[in-house]
Amino acid sequence: MLILGLESSCDETAAALVRDDRTILAHKLAGQEAAHRPYGGVVPEIAARAHVEMLAPLAEAALAEAGVRLDDVDAIAATAGPGLIGGVMVGLVTAKALALAASKPLVAVNHLEGHALSPRLADPDLAFPYLLLLVSGGHCQLLEVRGVGDYRRLATTIDDAAGEAFDKTAKLLGLGFPGGPAVERAAIAGDPRAVPLPRPLVGSREPHFSFAGLKSAVLRAADSGRWSAADIAASFQQAVVDCLIDRTRIALASAGPVTALVVAGGVAANSAVRGALATLAARHGVRFVAPPLWLCTDNAAMIAWAGAERFAAGLTDPLDVPARARWPLDPDAEKARGAGV
Ligand code: ATP
Ligand code: MG
Ligand code: FE
Repeated sequence: MLILGLESSCDETAAALVRDDRTILAHKLAGQEAAHRPYGGVVPEIAARAHVEMLAPLAEAALAEAGVRLDDVDAIAATAGPGLIGGVMVGLVTAKALALAASKPLVAVNHLEGHALSPRLADPDLAFPYLLLLVSGGHCQLLEVRGVGDYRRLATTIDDAAGEAFDKTAKLLGLGFPGGPAVERAAIAGDPRAVPLPRPLVGSREPHFSFAGLKSAVLRAADSGRWSAADIAASFQQAVVDCLIDRTRIALASAGPVTALVVAGGVAANSAVRGALATLAARHGVRFVAPPLWLCTDNAAMIAWAGAERFAAGLTDPLDVPARARWPLDPDAEKARGAGV
């Protein structure tokens, strides 16, 4: 089975061809860092326009690289949300047009399910259920991944996402955009114990996250002029790691039996985060799985793979399936939101 996947929910335009035996036939990606850098963050309108220009050529390039025609594809998968709605619409409409023109089934993929299942693309031995720390630019959640389309959310952030905290810290330290890799690079030369920073919610019984207070503390530390950017970056990164580890430890204790502790999403590319989670998993006698770095940040291979898993489960979508700016993975999430979670 061969799936064409399209991704356009934020500032990466991407197309990939993936087989259900996990062969990645082609994988094309165009980042937009240069276009957004002057603004210090992603500008939705600029992103949507770039997706319009880049997506079709990337899909054609992916087909050419794989040496296949659209006719050889079994289904077309695209991110249908959550994300910046303009970009999501570009990708979904492109997929609908291709599906209609080639008479192929359409699979509308939740971008978070793309991240959540990406470790299974890289690791054929990763079986359900697993405990997933999903740490990305817009999300910070602990999920029990029980199967395709079957998620139980154990925790989420009550304010900022972890990646958002990295991006804001990079911005206020003047480290540039995108923030996560810039903070990680700056932290190498810094002392992670230099700056006293809070660890919000660490020690609390529910495994939720909070990063807003940490961001304010970083701002005060930067304003004080007492510490180098490297020391602040290293101390900030350590504080985030400590929060992620403490919360994941609580979730490990409260989740049912799981086959592995898994991390996914852009922040999973951070080596301090990966290292600390590996240690935590070893201490709990559970396997640790992290996708290769390129699969952590946004890409289309994970969307094609999630499409393959859904298609194999008989899950396809009608051509009028809507693009969604918000789209929680678990059905209980909307209810929980009402409860302030
Ligand atoms: P979401 O997936 O929640 O919709 P997104 O798609 O924008 O959000 P991703 O592409 O999964 O997010 O991840 C991007 C985020 O990951 C950014 O916030 C970025 O700063 C962060 N990130 C990327 N690399 C690193 C790194 N090495 N260390 C820390 N953070 C990183
Ligand atoms: Mg990005
Ligand atoms: Fe993402």
